[in-house]
Amino acid sequence: MSDTFGVASIAASVRSGALTASDVLEAHLERVAAHEDTIHAFNTVLADEARRRASSVDDRVASGHDPGPLAGVPIALKDNLCTRGTPTTCSSRILDGWRPPYDATVVERLAAAGAVVVGKTNLDEFAMGSSTENSAFGPTRNPHDPTRVPGGSSGGSAATVAAGFAAGALGSDTGGSIRQPAALCGVVGAKPTYGLVSRYGLIAFASSLDQVGPFAMSVEDAALILDAVSGPDPFDSTCLTSVVSPSASNLGRGVEGLRVGIISEMSEAEGLAPDVRARLVQAAEALESSGATVAPVNVPAVTYGLSAYYLIAPAEASSNLARYDGVRYGLRAPGTSDITEMYTESRSRGFGDEVKRRIMLGTYALSAGYYDAYYGQAQKVRTLIIRDFDAAYEKFDVLLSPTTPGTAFPIGEKSADPLTMYLNDVFTIPSNLAGHPAVSVPFGSGDDGLPIGIQVLAPALREAVMFQAAEVLESKSPANPIAPMRSALSLQPSARSAK
Ligand code: GLN
Repeated sequence: MSDTFGVASIAASVRSGALTASDVLEAHLERVAAHEDTIHAFNTVLADEARRRASSVDDRVASGHDPGPLAGVPIALKDNLCTRGTPTTCSSRILDGWRPPYDATVVERLAAAGAVVVGKTNLDEFAMGSSTENSAFGPTRNPHDPTRVPGGSSGGSAATVAAGFAAGALGSDTGGSIRQPAALCGVVGAKPTYGLVSRYGLIAFASSLDQVGPFAMSVEDAALILDAVSGPDPFDSTCLTSVVSPSASNLGRGVEGLRVGIISEMSEAEGLAPDVRARLVQAAEALESSGATVAPVNVPAVTYGLSAYYLIAPAEASSNLARYDGVRYGLRAPGTSDITEMYTESRSRGFGDEVKRRIMLGTYALSAGYYDAYYGQAQKVRTLIIRDFDAAYEKFDVLLSPTTPGTAFPIGEKSADPLTMYLNDVFTIPSNLAGHPAVSVPFGSGDDGLPIGIQVLAPALREAVMFQAAEVLESKSPANPIAPMRSALSLQPSARSAK
């Protein structure tokens, strides 16, 4: 879906002087002022900093400099990305009052590209969840229907884009936390290949799975944001050290001759809503009629993905979250008599139920005597998933699946039942376990009128072909619902360019 004031068009207009970054920002801040009380997408709106930043972008243009490929583009950041001197909460009480002493690498890269950060967005605490209901600061609401969840854990970032509070956003995806909320909010969301984007300054959940990625209203816009933030980083030893060709490099090529596999284990999954399945069939037909060859393919091990993920992710989380002990960061329980009590009280008060559940699951899975039976087995499943994907990619360039089993569900519907909640990520988790890229593209709506997302999966570092196929799907999509608050921006040509 092309948006007149998407990332590419804002950057082009600001670079040419046709619009000022300040006017673009004010138009977005107006929508924040009008609708943020309903949506609660942000933990912090950084209006003053954004205004300073936008005016410095405008000064650069006025003095004949190019501010960069994201010139004047308002971007929202998931609140698990470190921003120097600005609270970074992970939507947890345990980080109360903590201000990072440094910017995440992706935050530095956005600034270098000329983007304007508008705020930090709400998430499930420490990115654990699929609905943004597990936030210590209350849930975010879906801009298409405020009685529904926006998905999660990057629900705030998805909602900022759907509501038009920002032209793009960054989120993190450990098991689907970019793609699932993108699908539920009717926006594009991409998880890159593991290692393509630096994790330096992304607060760790499960380090072998976490990746930062973009949200935007169009495939092109998502690719542009990804290209601005990706690339080698000496501060992240898991980051790839070589430069790869840009994610946007195949856009506009169409899909003539491209081989597309429909993952049978996902398209025929029990629990897949009939309206979502119907859209998947339509998406496959759209690619076929655009010149791709489409056929079903088996990727058998993906059916074990969810089980393996709920051993590996909590195991890594239990280790990563051990650092929140009341000593080094944020909250420290007052009035305790010894250090053990201080640790216990701080962690008991600072973490919410889902985070505690994951820490206990992970600690158990790693404990002596159970390690081989649980964590070891899960790692073997991970290898099987990679092998099955490799076999599928011998015959296909990209694979297709639904992003989620259904559309956005009512707030409160699944929050008391963690297992039902976990099932939301059954189609997204395998790409994280394999380290492969995947993108969710809006593809029409369901019987309830809410957005549906189709997922395009690709082999490692094949983002370019993934976006190439995704762009064709986008162009062939049935009408996508637009969130009521995402009104068209009425922007006048800048006074500066009129002079
Ligand atoms: N919903 C999944 C979970 O709760 C994935 C979260 C994520 O990708 N951060 O773990």
